Amino acid sequence: MTKPGLVLHIDPIACEGHGLCAELFPERITLDDWGYPIADATPIPRGLERHARRAASECPRCALRLVRSQVE
Ligand code: SF4
Repeated sequence: MTKPGLVLHIDPIACEGHGLCAELFPERITLDDWGYPIADATPIPRGLERHARRAASECPRCALRLVRSQVE
């Protein structure tokens, strides 16, 4: 059985493309040509969870969340 891992989820309606998340978590978030984030959908390694949580908590639109995934 696989262990749950955290993955990034971006709400495209709430996101306004500030790009702050890509600055705070460049290991997993890049920006498209319009400045909107593209998140790596694979589970976040434990060593990067703190960065991921910080990026999510700093999002001014609460558009970035960490959700549990069964895929690891
Ligand atoms: S910080 Fe939030 S609002 Fe800004 S680009 Fe990232 S997800 Fe979107």
